[in-house]
Amino acid sequence: MTISRILIANRGEIALRIHRAAHEMGIETVAVHSTADAEAMHVRLADHAVCIGPPPAAESYLNHAAIISAAEVAGCDAIHPGYGFLSENAKFAEIVEAHDIAWIGPKPEHIRTMGDKVMAKKTAGELGLPLVPGSDGAVSEPDEGKKIAAEIGYPVIIKAASGGGGRGMKVCESEDQLETLMSQAGSEAKAAFGDATVYIEKYLGNPRHIEFQVFGDGNGNAIHLGERDCSLQRRHQKVLEEAPSPVIDSAQRERMGEVCAKAMRDMGYRGAGTIEFLWEDGEFYFIEMNTRLQVEHPVTEAITGVDLVREQIRIAAGKPLSVKQEELEFRGHAIECRINAEDPFTFAPSPGEVTYYHAAGGLHVRVDSGLYAGYRIPPYYDSMIAKLIVYGRTREGCIMRLRRALEEMVVEGVKTNIPLHQELLHQTDVLHGDYSIKWLEQWLEEREG
Ligand code: ADP
Repeated sequence: MTISRILIANRGEIALRIHRAAHEMGIETVAVHSTADAEAMHVRLADHAVCIGPPPAAESYLNHAAIISAAEVAGCDAIHPGYGFLSENAKFAEIVEAHDIAWIGPKPEHIRTMGDKVMAKKTAGELGLPLVPGSDGAVSEPDEGKKIAAEIGYPVIIKAASGGGGRGMKVCESEDQLETLMSQAGSEAKAAFGDATVYIEKYLGNPRHIEFQVFGDGNGNAIHLGERDCSLQRRHQKVLEEAPSPVIDSAQRERMGEVCAKAMRDMGYRGAGTIEFLWEDGEFYFIEMNTRLQVEHPVTEAITGVDLVREQIRIAAGKPLSVKQEELEFRGHAIECRINAEDPFTFAPSPGEVTYYHAAGGLHVRVDSGLYAGYRIPPYYDSMIAKLIVYGRTREGCIMRLRRALEEMVVEGVKTNIPLHQELLHQTDVLHGDYSIKWLEQWLEEREG
């Protein structure tokens, strides 16, 4: 099929990112927006715009009926969901396809399977991905939990099958806490996700978060685009991401990348996906798969030269992948800083009017952002307002360029975490790439004293 007009069911920088890829392919775009986003950059740049509801996301960006009607009224033949919002909603994907609109995303059944963590883990195991040792599926009885925990050894982590965003997890140090923590995890999961199902796995002490970018055409062809290291996290939220990982060499990349690509071929996976692993002492352990584009996808674009959104659109139109595995080369190093409107010390959100804005520029510097002077950052959504992505031939060169670019970025009127990034890029451990998923929180604690 031909895609000629895409509805972008998202906002902020990712809506712009999709608009840019579409226009470069000669495809028109339709922005949808809440009343709070009427003045947003993605609304200004899109060819058409449709207001779909009031500020709360549940009534606008998550409103199935409003988005489908907008697509029908505006004559769209495809919908790109971006990340977050409806991007991993299998039901919505099915509704889109039932309306003969191309869903720029994976097959709904794959979104559903990977969205349930117990099912995802089972599927990943069957596809040959290495798993964190743990229960074989859901655990409902405390005695069963104790037996499994004794086998794998404490500490263990109790996780909600429907969990997400780092919520619904409890670390358990010893057998006497297990029953209480299992029941707490279950009731918290029930309250947050409407599903009390939990499972148990080994708690890794000091792992890194390393994820592989994969792409499938839906017909059994799939490639990997290498890994990203997203270990610098606060409250399970990524702060800075890089590609390649400082601890992976090309042989490991090829080996694990092929394991991931083969899994996607066997599944008949369609579109972009990310397979997330914890990595400790040279071993990978699958934790989850995200069936969508990731915030941090630009670092992969920087080192491979592949436009991932363009590939997504091609695949949704039934075209093959434009690159073959053997043509892909991983060159240089890229780092992304997530720039949030928040206090760099307390992390309290800082919405409001941006009185002055100047984006960094120069060779190998990319800023993905919908900011402009006079823009009012609404208080209703995520606090990420920009992504600064910098490329260098070496990791050292990349860091020097990133420091230079951060000096140039000016956002006035609201607080941002730019000072935090600047400080991070002077820490010896960060300079050496020597950090685990615990590093940032420990460093923040020490900084507070
Ligand atoms: P979510 O979908 O909620 O993000 P994940 O399964 O991706 O949940 O886990 C989120 C984070 O929790 C991981 O990035 C890691 O920091 C931590 N985590 C998850 N599982 C384990 C584990 N087995 N051992 C140690 N830390 C873990």
